[in-house]
Amino acid sequence: MLAKKPVIFCDFDGTITVKDNIMAIMRKFAPPEWEPLAQQILGQEISIREGVGQLFALLPSTLEQDITDFALEQAEIRPGFERFLEHVKRERLLLNVVSGGIDFFLDPILAPFQLEDVKIYRNESDFSGERIKILWPYPCDAECNVDCGLCKTSIIRSYPSEQYFKIVIGDSITDLAGAKIADIVFARGLLLEKCKELGLRYYAYETFDDILQVLTTEPWNYQSLWEELTELKELFARRDWFPGTSGNLSVKTQAEPLRFLVTASGKDKSKTTNEDFLLVDQDSQPSYLTHLKPSAETTIHEAIYKQMGAGAVVHVHTIYNNLISDIYREQGCAIFAGNELIKAFDLWDEDAQIKVPIVHNYANIPLLTAEVKAVLNEGVPGVLIHQHGIYAWGKNIFEAKKHLEAFEFLFELRYKRLSLHSN
Ligand code: MG
Ligand code: ZN
Repeated sequence: MLAKKPVIFCDFDGTITVKDNIMAIMRKFAPPEWEPLAQQILGQEISIREGVGQLFALLPSTLEQDITDFALEQAEIRPGFERFLEHVKRERLLLNVVSGGIDFFLDPILAPFQLEDVKIYRNESDFSGERIKILWPYPCDAECNVDCGLCKTSIIRSYPSEQYFKIVIGDSITDLAGAKIADIVFARGLLLEKCKELGLRYYAYETFDDILQVLTTEPWNYQSLWEELTELKELFARRDWFPGTSGNLSVKTQAEPLRFLVTASGKDKSKTTNEDFLLVDQDSQPSYLTHLKPSAETTIHEAIYKQMGAGAVVHVHTIYNNLISDIYREQGCAIFAGNELIKAFDLWDEDAQIKVPIVHNYANIPLLTAEVKAVLNEGVPGVLIHQHGIYAWGKNIFEAKKHLEAFEFLFELRYKRLSLHSN
């Protein structure tokens, strides 16, 4: 099972745009009857579909161009929207714009943003009659009896909860039903008040930069790294490299300030769940609100990232790394040379050697961390801890794995050769 894929459902009116476009259009073009109608919608006396349909039926179709021009002219995009889109693209997040707005003003407002990969759900319009007619291509499913017009919850429900981590961004009461079935909500305005009232998991925002701030510190934002780390964890678990919940893995998500995904403490690493990893900061503390605790030895990962510029760090307890750590304990290092696998460490000379430091296994983690830090060495991507295990690293997950496998091969080979000689 893979971790859930994040999917964003973003409202348009009052969210992507600063103000509500339908209200602005009515204020400008509609006869006075629009106001009591709007009140009836807000008072939930009539459904949104019925009300919005009636509002636009107040307007003659001949106004199409004028209304479109006006909508484009008055629409103000919420600050940070472009940076938000860049991030969505870079992290390959699924973004849906889910709006009760209408195509003829929504499409031209969004046109400059190149949203080829974004699915846009909105209502459609028909100007062929005397009055503007609204068409409703996304009606309520069997589970919704609200007569939404465009049914946001039906769209959100169409993404199975077992597979998707659902994020709703909105501003008003029309986003509330969706917010209730979301995993996390970004809210402002009336929606924010409702989220507080109902105790939903929410973040308040004013700009898309506020949202971005959270997106870049939440672990569900690093889906591809999460999946890569999961694969590695599953592989190492099959090799029995995590006996008794021991061992830990991490991958850097950002260098400045340092952030990395690291295994959560006390989990059975042969199982895969949505809580296997958490994101920590430059002090090895969770970078967001979570009940998860990082592995006890996370500060060693932190030290290796800071000192060695690594991109991924792996730590496993194996029989052979424990044996080697004990055999060479007195020397304080284990030296390997003359084997083809030395090349895994980018050592190509025939007489090249690699000297793996061995440190004492202090139970006190700050002390152990200091000890590891003291022996970190450019060109040797590993440290053995006596009767404990190995830390190995690389510039990415692929390289950290390669280094660890080469170490483990050399350890096993050395031990078996020593056993042969002693017989
Ligand atoms: Mg809105
Ligand atoms: Zn509905």
